[in-house]
Amino acid sequence: MRNIYGITLEELETYFIEHNIKKFKATQVFEWLYKKRVSSFDEMTNVGKDIISQLKQDFNIMKLKIVTKREDIDVVKYLFELSDHNRIEAVLMHHDYGNSLCISTQVGCNMGCSFCESGRLKKVRNLDTYEMVVQLLMVEADLNIRISHLVLMGIGEPFDNYENMISFINIINTPKGIDLGSRHITISTSGIVPKINEFADYPKQVNLAISLHAPNDKLRSKLMNINKAYPLDVLMKSVKDYIKKTNRRVTFEYIMLKDVNDSLECAEELCQLVYGINCYINLIPYNETSHISYKKSDHSSVLAFYDYLKKHNIAVTIRREFGSKVNAACGQLRSNYEEE
Ligand code: SAH
Ligand code: SF4
Repeated sequence: MRNIYGITLEELETYFIEHNIKKFKATQVFEWLYKKRVSSFDEMTNVGKDIISQLKQDFNIMKLKIVTKREDIDVVKYLFELSDHNRIEAVLMHHDYGNSLCISTQVGCNMGCSFCESGRLKKVRNLDTYEMVVQLLMVEADLNIRISHLVLMGIGEPFDNYENMISFINIINTPKGIDLGSRHITISTSGIVPKINEFADYPKQVNLAISLHAPNDKLRSKLMNINKAYPLDVLMKSVKDYIKKTNRRVTFEYIMLKDVNDSLECAEELCQLVYGINCYINLIPYNETSHISYKKSDHSSVLAFYDYLKKHNIAVTIRREFGSKVNAACGQLRSNYEEE
């Protein structure tokens, strides 16, 4: 039995047509789910009794369980339990421009980046589409807010769960549903090149962020296993092709690790690497974790690195730090909670 929150409007329309039900009924169901936010089929009063019992035969309407929730001034961090008892996280951040939600896409991650807590747990499985949709619905309901921006930067590699991720974007972007604008959605990838190439043909104007973290192959391969499969020349070519096709600016994420990748030599190499590319660089303060020995860069090194890029006309920002007190980096709440 499938979960109704994992079904796109087009799929529901096809299902209804196959069951000799008028197609527009699918829009009504979508509005009950995503505009009126009912939590049972029985509440969908204009849909019709026969259709409701048909839906109940083939779909369930279950959500997830909130295991724990930690709050700081501008951040709320959720630990969810899935129906098979696996756990994932979502992080809500209050910005002056709105509320952004960071969601997980997999249980664990197989990319094995050496600085990342999520990667310490090998991938158990992909999240189903509904498990991504429901993270958003439950946070909105719990805090009684609307989410204006969504980032796929929680546990997991979104491009390693491509089909479900695309269905998820489709569902939350549907005007008859949650109607979250595609320009307000950002996908972050460690750099799975064939998927970046595929994504270049995706018609919606979703933002793409690439986890770069190092300006040369030697260092990047040390930090990120994926660099051995798709080294920088291959990755950068695919990013350039993506920009050419989509005419969209790409973000490069760069975690600042003390004495690892934060020298001015690295800044210089980085300038050369991204020279002429329509991009901006987001410098990310590292969230230290007890299991991994990397340290966050000193504030002065971050500023010097930032200044160097700025002086060389590279668009650069330093990411605001959220909730390090509530273990905000991806994978940290899960792993801390399980130790407690
Ligand atoms: N797998 C995807 C998306 C999830 S990770 C990716 O790697 O891009 C989202 C971002 O968080 C990545 O840029 C990742 O490198 C970063 N990240 C991982 N661990 C972190 C930590 N401890 N502190 C700060 N950022 C971290
Ligand atoms: Fe996976 Fe991203 Fe963590 Fe790397 S940084 S292990 S790709 S979640």
